[in-house]
Amino acid sequence: MPSTRVTIWNEFVHERENPDVAEVYPDGIHTTIASALDQHGFETRTATLDDPEHGLTEDVLDETDVLTWWGHAAHDAVEDRIVERVHERVLDGMGLIVLHSGHYSKVFQRLMGTSCSLKWREAAERERLWVVEPSHPIASGIDECIELPEAEMYGERFDVPRPDTLVFTSWFEGGEVFRSGCCYHRGSGKVFYFRPGHETYPIYHDGAIRQVLANACDWATPVDESPEPSYGNTDPREEIDTNDERTVH
Ligand code: ZN
Repeated sequence: MPSTRVTIWNEFVHERENPDVAEVYPDGIHTTIASALDQHGFETRTATLDDPEHGLTEDVLDETDVLTWWGHAAHDAVEDRIVERVHERVLDGMGLIVLHSGHYSKVFQRLMGTSCSLKWREAAERERLWVVEPSHPIASGIDECIELPEAEMYGERFDVPRPDTLVFTSWFEGGEVFRSGCCYHRGSGKVFYFRPGHETYPIYHDGAIRQVLANACDWATPVDESPEPSYGNTDPREEIDTNDERTVH
């Protein structure tokens, strides 16, 4: 089976402006995520905001089965025509993994149709991500919870539609909870929102988090040979007796 082709998109702003972030991700968050997915056997490429067409040309997307998205400071700088392009690709079957502060990305808001707002606090507090759907493929190989010693807090309410499947629920030291692993279907595409990943903590160096990213890319891979949906006026498959149409008694 050919390996899944994953494009890892990152706005790549904090790593170049904030030395604390550069220390954790010297080559950018995208490079660290790519190395995790390389290790798990995916064919990876990276793309960033400053690339022509943000690195998401038609040709790149033609060769992308799953796109991962990390953004925070520059959501508004993403051109609407690229958002439109990515949105269309998802509806056509491309998988999309939205990470951490990507909850406010234009494409995620568009796919959800809600504000995607949440509570937050940056206090280096403990997070436990509890697996609430252990039979789900995204939880494969994960213990009953993932413990992160220091994380940014995201708290409910998270203004998203009810997920098709909720895989992780987070608990934070400060008392909040959060739906941290949310699966959606949009058109022919699969979308997974995964909460961890604040830029000042080494979240994407964590083995369990890397496993979840790989599982999510597997899950979101388009199914080969899936039936092509058809729409509009259609002929009946069986002969229909129309004699009783609007029969007047
Ligand atoms: Zn953050």
